[in-house]
Amino acid sequence: MKIIMLGAPGAGKGTQAKMISEKYGLPHVSTGDIFRANIKNGTELGKEAKKYMDQGQLVPDELTVKILLDRVAQPDCKNGYVLDGFPRTIPQAEVLDKALTELGDKVDFAINVDVPDENIINRMSGRRACVTCGATYHVVYAPTKVEGVCDKCGSNLILRDDDKPETVKARLEVYHKQTQPLIEYYDKKGVLKEVDGTVDMHEVFNSIVSILS
Ligand code: ADP
Ligand code: AMP
Repeated sequence: MKIIMLGAPGAGKGTQAKMISEKYGLPHVSTGDIFRANIKNGTELGKEAKKYMDQGQLVPDELTVKILLDRVAQPDCKNGYVLDGFPRTIPQAEVLDKALTELGDKVDFAINVDVPDENIINRMSGRRACVTCGATYHVVYAPTKVEGVCDKCGSNLILRDDDKPETVKARLEVYHKQTQPLIEYYDKKGVLKEVDGTVDMHEVFNSIVSILS
C-alpha cells in the first residue's frame, strides 16, 4: 500500500503517518526528517537544504526528488510506504507517478488532513521535537510525561527554528501556492481522501483507518 499524506504544515501529517506506519507495518518516509538528519550530520545536502528550510521555502525539486527516489528504492519500501511531506509540488508528484508507472505501480491513497490556517500557528508554536530521535509532541495536545524530555529516548526537546511564527507564515504561503494544487491533482486520479484534522488525533486516525480498511 502506497499512501501520501497531504495537508498544511502542522496539520498532523507526521502524527498520523507514524500511527499508520505502526498499525500497518509500513515505513514512514518524511523528506523533512531526511533533510533534518542531513543538517544534523553536517552533510553537503544538509547545508544546501538548510538555506531554504530556514526561510520557510521549499528545497528545490531536483534535490528533493533524488533523495525521495533513493529512499523508496530501499528494500524496506518494497511492499509500500507512507509519504509525509512529499510530494509538495506538482512536478514532484509527476516524477513519483512516472517512477511508479515504470514499476507497474501507483499511489493507492492521498489523504488530505484538513486544518484551517487559523489553527496552524497554535499547532506549530506548541510543537516540540526530540533532538535525537525526531519524535514530535505538543505542549498542550500531546505532552511528554516530563516537560522538555522525550518519552521515547530521554533526550531534550526543542522548538524547531522553522516553527517560529514568522517562518510559519511563509510556510503557509508556500503551502497554498505550491502544495495545495496537489489536492485537485490526486482528486483527478481518483485516490484523494479527505479527513477533518481539527479533531482529536485519535479520532483523525480512526477516520483514516476506515478509509484504509
Ligand atoms: P505536520 O507533520 O503536518 O507538520 P505534526 O504531525 O508534526 O504536523 O503536528 C503538528 C503539531 O500538532 C504537533 O505538535 C502535534 O503533536 C500536534 N497535533 C497533531 N495532530 C493533532 C490534533 N489532531 N489535534 C491537536 N494537535 C495535534
Ligand atoms: P516538514 O518536516 O515536512 O514540515 O518539512 C520541513 C521543511 O523541509 C519544509 O518547510 C521544506 O523547506 C523542506 N521540505 C520537506 N519536504 C520537502 C519537499 N517534498 N519539497 C521541498 N521541500 C521540502
